[in-house]
Amino acid sequence: MDSRQCSLIRTNFESLTDSPDRTHALSNSFYSILFARHPETREFFPATMAGQRDRIVRGLAHIVDGLDRPESVLPLVRQLGREHRKHGLDPSRFACLTEALALAVEQANGENWTRDLAESWCTALDLITTAMSEAAEADEGPAAWVGTVIEHRLVTDDIAVIRLQLDKPMDYAAGQYVSVQVPGRLRMWRYLSPAIPADRTGLIEFHVRRVSGGWVSPSIVRHTQVGETWVLGSPLGSLGARDDGDRAGRPRLMIASGTGIAPIRAQLMAMAQRTDNLPTHVFYSGRFPYDLYDLPTLESLARISPWLTVVPVVENTETPLWHTGSSGPGTAVREGVVGQVVAEHGTWTDHDVQICGSPSMVRATTFRLRAAGVPVARIHHDPQP
Ligand SMILES: Cc1cc2nc3c(=O)[nH]c(=O)nc-3n(C[C@H](O)[C@H](O)[C@H](O)COP(=O)(O)OP(=O)(O)OC[C@H]3O[C@@H](n4cnc5c(N)ncnc54)[C@H](O)[C@@H]3O)c2cc1C
Repeated sequence: MDSRQCSLIRTNFESLTDSPDRTHALSNSFYSILFARHPETREFFPATMAGQRDRIVRGLAHIVDGLDRPESVLPLVRQLGREHRKHGLDPSRFACLTEALALAVEQANGENWTRDLAESWCTALDLITTAMSEAAEADEGPAAWVGTVIEHRLVTDDIAVIRLQLDKPMDYAAGQYVSVQVPGRLRMWRYLSPAIPADRTGLIEFHVRRVSGGWVSPSIVRHTQVGETWVLGSPLGSLGARDDGDRAGRPRLMIASGTGIAPIRAQLMAMAQRTDNLPTHVFYSGRFPYDLYDLPTLESLARISPWLTVVPVVENTETPLWHTGSSGPGTAVREGVVGQVVAEHGTWTDHDVQICGSPSMVRATTFRLRAAGVPVARIHHDPQP
């Protein structure tokens, strides 16, 4: 695809999703077309489509955003192809998804649909389908893993640590994420980031925060039972990839809030096994001190890792009166909004940056760092939920 087509698609997609109503209309139209033309695909989606509908648009937004950087977006598209094997859908049928998307985009454009737009979208969607199905067909690894819960522990009122024994080891890179289906929420796949590096005996650990009003996370945090089985898709993402930054010798800045610490601690644990690490700063943030539930792990890692500096940050140092559990770290913590604290702490223009946390925290912190002169290409985060 040439750069003119990429920017035509990006501008067009932005106009089709510039309000929640238009975003819903596009995703509703996609699913209506898909289920009308290919009724057999309905079984891959949950009984209730509430909370599901806009996911396709959010996923597409991430890909459209990176179309002019195929080297960065194609690996994710290929991973998605491999990952979709968990549904048991034949890769040759992936085209039915992009066909429905193409028609939905055409309908959403209405009278503004031009031959130029049609050709550009067709090229882009062909590229995506081909990359997805080729990767899925070439993959000889498992299509899915079954994990049995061996431990479920509440570490704050809202966060549970869950450990599972997989039926076979999963070979993922620390920092990647996987899609997970839990019993009681069938076909409501959600992404979770393993909090430990790949384990050759098949142990895996997740940290899950209860999102208020969410379909799946409250159930995981409150109702997970030891002995129940989860299904996991193949690993996705490139957050922990040893890339240009390593080759160029750039130090790392990692910023986490809440369960965003999971992919970061997994990487730190993997890095602690190596001897060639570049200086790494981790800012670990929460609203209150007791939110920093994993600080002891980070501090233990820092004690044996001279390359690692951990800075705890909280928005309020006072523990609120309603909180009855542990009050959190006794160590000194910085007070403030994490993006601001990081920006004021030093100069990060020569660092590779990872940001892991809620969508609003990722947005606000990215904004702060860009304002502080960090080039956007050096700021990495996972796609947003
Ligand atoms: C790459 C990736 C990795 C992830 N890793 C983890 C992880 O390790 N641990 C973990 O707990 N979660 C993780 N998440 C978030 C997780 O996948 C779910 O989105 C989250 O648990 C909410 O699911 P739900 O079904 O409860 O809410 P939904 O029913 O999907 O959503 C309910 C409402 O909450 C909003 N919402 C969804 N997610 C969030 C969020 N994170 N913060 C604030 N509002 C939100 C939605 O926009 C919606 O309005 C990750 C997400 C992504 C994209």
